[in-house]
Amino acid sequence: MRITEVRVHQLSAKLKERFGWSLNWAQERHATLVEVLTDAGITGWGDGDFGGDKLIANPQLVIGRSPFAVEAIFDELRSPGGKQQRVGSPAAAGLDVALWDIIGKALGEPVWRLLGKQYRDRVQPYCTAMYRKDWPDLATGLAAEAMEWKARGYSLIKMKIGYGPEVDVEVVRAVRNAIGPETGLAVDSNCAYDAGTAARLGKLLEPFALLWWEEPLLANDYTGYARLREAFAIPLAGGETMFTDELIQHYVQPRLVDILQPDIEHVGLTGGRRLTYLTWLNHMRLIPHNWGTAVRTVSELHWAATIPPVSEGLYAPPVMIEFDRTESPFRDAVVAEPVDIGRDGKLPVPDKPGLGITVLPEAVESFRKNLIVIC
Ligand SMILES: [Mg+2]
Repeated sequence: MRITEVRVHQLSAKLKERFGWSLNWAQERHATLVEVLTDAGITGWGDGDFGGDKLIANPQLVIGRSPFAVEAIFDELRSPGGKQQRVGSPAAAGLDVALWDIIGKALGEPVWRLLGKQYRDRVQPYCTAMYRKDWPDLATGLAAEAMEWKARGYSLIKMKIGYGPEVDVEVVRAVRNAIGPETGLAVDSNCAYDAGTAARLGKLLEPFALLWWEEPLLANDYTGYARLREAFAIPLAGGETMFTDELIQHYVQPRLVDILQPDIEHVGLTGGRRLTYLTWLNHMRLIPHNWGTAVRTVSELHWAATIPPVSEGLYAPPVMIEFDRTESPFRDAVVAEPVDIGRDGKLPVPDKPGLGITVLPEAVESFRKNLIVIC
């Protein structure tokens, strides 16, 4: 079996209602779906990058090769200059996922079986929502939204902060008071602060029993993160913008954060599998970041099925994935099988060959703003 063509579908869609966080306001959503075709008639899909200019200039790095060369292709596309350049840049992560999808379909096996040991067939999600909207009062609006997610069956919710320490304390208090102590609450400030400000804010947030604080600082403020780990008793999380090798060198080996949050968009399933093993060896939790289409969510379900628990304790912190519930016109429209929580609040891991989902080409085309074909 040989790869004959790569099609990169760049999607975008306007939102009905804008939402904001510490960096910006979103008026529209974007995503990239990578479709890989073979001479065996098997097609694979992934959500993420495709190798960019390097692949366009050197199509022979993929075209004509066996999909089973997935790991070689990942390394050749990711690391053009070895250690002399920024290691791990730019990952062909969506392409990588599509190759794993093809391999699974060719072998008649779900992707999780190819990645490692299956630890679970249902994965605990946490609900990502709780952005800023055009509410008259932010704290009241967020508290009401949190109650809606709780009523829909979510036991773990993440909210945005990063609006200045005083506002952050006010909104977290309002949400915690609304949902009560039994619902898990995490916060994400998208690199809003410096270490001094975050050290002060962390002490103020300690009473709210937060599951974690995500990206208090810029992703490369390694010294700052090391300071924060000693400054307050809230687990630190991060890593969503970084590539596999950067994460290993700067986050996993020094145990910079408590919870590593790589995104399949940047690490693919090949990088994800490496991170699974290294975080486990380094006693770190691994919770994949997820911001894309249902293809990405399903890819992360296969990955999360194979992530070992951080301890063997009966009450070990759960392995989970991020489940984005903000407005996205194409997120679920591009696949035939809806991805949603069951009555137990968990997401089922697909059991069919490959990723185990059906991408709908007409739906993809309806949201497509640009198509790149490599053959
Ligand atoms: Mg985040």
